[in-house]
Amino acid sequence: MPENHPVRGLSLMSGGLDSRLAILVLKEQGIEMEAVVFSSPFFKIKAAVEGAKLLGVKLHIVDFTADILELLKKPRHGFGGAMNPCIDCHARMIKRAGEMRVAMGFDFVSTGEVLGQRPMSQNATSLGIVERDSALGGYLLRPLSAQLLEPTVPETDGRVDRSRLLALTGRSRKPQIELAKTRYHLDSWPSPAGGCMLTESGFARKLREEAEHEGLDDLFCVKLLTRGRHFRLPGGTRAVVGRDASDNAALEEMRRPGDVLIHTENVPGPSILLPYGPKGDDLETALALCAAYSDHDHMAEVSLRVLSDEAPATRRLVPPPRESFQDWLVR
Ligand code: SF4
Repeated sequence: MPENHPVRGLSLMSGGLDSRLAILVLKEQGIEMEAVVFSSPFFKIKAAVEGAKLLGVKLHIVDFTADILELLKKPRHGFGGAMNPCIDCHARMIKRAGEMRVAMGFDFVSTGEVLGQRPMSQNATSLGIVERDSALGGYLLRPLSAQLLEPTVPETDGRVDRSRLLALTGRSRKPQIELAKTRYHLDSWPSPAGGCMLTESGFARKLREEAEHEGLDDLFCVKLLTRGRHFRLPGGTRAVVGRDASDNAALEEMRRPGDVLIHTENVPGPSILLPYGPKGDDLETALALCAAYSDHDHMAEVSLRVLSDEAPATRRLVPPPRESFQDWLVR
């Protein structure tokens, strides 16, 4: 061992099984592990928070929003099945972790990648690209497949015992499940999918539509995409229609000066947010949309409240059929 301090590693943590196993494999040989998760409006970090707590490791939560918005504009290695620039995204995360390694004195950065597990992002070529683009040199350790890869610096100089790392490969998850149950006594873990909205085709369509209209530099509109149904009204206004009480509360809370919020008064119904206010005749269309999506039960009229920078106003409207708005639904 070249240095006289405890060996410390920083591991990328999605919270899924592989990222948990990577930490356990390294902890098992006495290495002090900490974890990092990258947050953005598109990623859910709950599994990482729970995983870190379960494993007893400190978790660093790093805002990745500016990085992912930049990568979405022109990913060097393209997109996966939806709007997920996985190779570039992963390389950037590792690069950011590499900067933390230097700044905080970690001996290496590790990940839960398994050679050959994912056709696009975890084949031998992709792992090589990620290593090169992340500029981590020999300080990127993949403990679950390490014995099948070139030795890293900490393995070569003895800070990490290579013989105690693993040689997992391929798409089967059986070996990981076996390890989790028999060696580490884990009884549950989140499913591999579900943490990133960019992999969902419906969300990707909404994001592309937004890129065409508002662009991706408008962080407020980007955050709005995670809430409600989105309509592009004839005048060009985006109308975000709450789907449930949680959406409605979020939209009400998100309203800024210049935005307009509409909600029903005499029947249950959605809150609708018009970011930057209505263009052209879109206020009338948005009012009709709110009435149509209310639980009006064929009442003659729905009462609607309009909140804007001016005094609140009330309007009464005959609810039109929902089908009349389908052409404007972003889906
Ligand atoms: S799934 Fe999402 S968070 Fe993960 S690498 Fe791909 S784009 Fe990034």
